[in-house]
Amino acid sequence: MNKVKGTKDYFDSEIDSFAKARETLFKIANNFAFSEVITPILEHEELFKRFLGLETDIITKEMYRLNDKKNRALVLRPEGTAPISRMVLENKLLKQNQTKRLFYFGPMFRYERPQKGRQREFYQFGVELFNDKTIFSNLLIIQFCQTILQEFAITKFKLQLNSLGSLATRKKYLVVLKKYYEDNKTKLSSDSQERIEKNVLRILDSKLIEDKKINLKAPKISQYWSEDEKSAFNQTIELLQACKIDYEINYQLVRGLDYYNDFIFEFISTDTKNLGASATLIAGGRYDGLINQLDKNEHAYAIGFALGVERLLLASAKEFKKPTLKIGDYYIIPLNNEYNLIAAKIFDQLRKMDYKIFINYDDQKLAKKISQAAKHNYTNVIIVGEETNNNNVIIKNLITRKQEEIEINKIGT
Ligand code: ATP
Ligand code: MG
Repeated sequence: MNKVKGTKDYFDSEIDSFAKARETLFKIANNFAFSEVITPILEHEELFKRFLGLETDIITKEMYRLNDKKNRALVLRPEGTAPISRMVLENKLLKQNQTKRLFYFGPMFRYERPQKGRQREFYQFGVELFNDKTIFSNLLIIQFCQTILQEFAITKFKLQLNSLGSLATRKKYLVVLKKYYEDNKTKLSSDSQERIEKNVLRILDSKLIEDKKINLKAPKISQYWSEDEKSAFNQTIELLQACKIDYEINYQLVRGLDYYNDFIFEFISTDTKNLGASATLIAGGRYDGLINQLDKNEHAYAIGFALGVERLLLASAKEFKKPTLKIGDYYIIPLNNEYNLIAAKIFDQLRKMDYKIFINYDDQKLAKKISQAAKHNYTNVIIVGEETNNNNVIIKNLITRKQEEIEINKIGT
């Protein structure tokens, strides 16, 4: 029996890079003063239907549904923003005018065609910043993403920006956009022809050549922005310029989910060799209306982003994936089984001091054991042999290659 299509097992070096990715993301989140939250993997189907929009790809094709024994319609969560919005409302975590900075890390599920960087079960890291409506919240979120890419040593990427405006702006724009596509209907892909009625914005996001051609001349949303929306977008751009952050404006950028408004963005990998067509590394934007959609008595400004951890790792440079050597990890080699017990005692002494230690009791040559230690990235080898008669052992540093005899009590101090 093999694993389910589109899922992944992690072991050996892959679990090491995955763990490093997780650790790095948690560290950055802490630097930006965001706190972790965990929401369930199972949610009511209704939650996503209400919040993602009935005609989004996730709802129409990608959701894993199941009915429990009481016939409740549940799903394996496809994304994190709707559950977090549910959580903050249900637990009354939002206080008026008090910002809340949350992040999550966990598996998401979408029934898609698996390919490089696109799985059916994949891990997302995402953040949500509530109750901050300033332009500086846009900057903070972009700086957060920049920091992540930097720490993962990803250099081949571009940042694309757009503004979707308010609901009112979008309504005006959609009428014009619909008309444009109706006029060019026969030249569109069959998928996009269907989208004209159901989810016309998504046509702009199509990756198919025939659609892309038509999209080139599509009306631009910027023509429908109000003065306020235009000025908000320009202010964000000025902040990015002042912080020397490169960007491109892409009026075709729409994002796949319905809940966004105003400022939206994507960090796109330009390294097509490693990622192929699944090039969006991080995506996000404002969703100031979502909370109100969930609870008519509540309103919260909000901005967030999500990234695919596997995609980030595919795009990250080799330096990132290389295991980091920890100073002070010990690999203990008893010279023969006469020294096993004393080795076990040294193990106990070092474990209490919080080191990572491994004892090799195998019946192998010393050189072979030392090469095993090097292969597993241990820094220090402790050779337990006749020096123990004087309460000493030999310590060999595998990086500097230096070797010294030291007292057992002094190891690790
Ligand atoms: P795409 O256009 O690539 O399908 P999306 O617009 O569906 O992405 P979001 O729902 O905004 O993506 O999710 C944010 C990020 O999560 C993406 O930019 C990507 O890095 C990652 N992601 C989305 N779907 C998958 C998947 N099936 N496998 C791996 N990572 C994914
Ligand atoms: Mg998608």
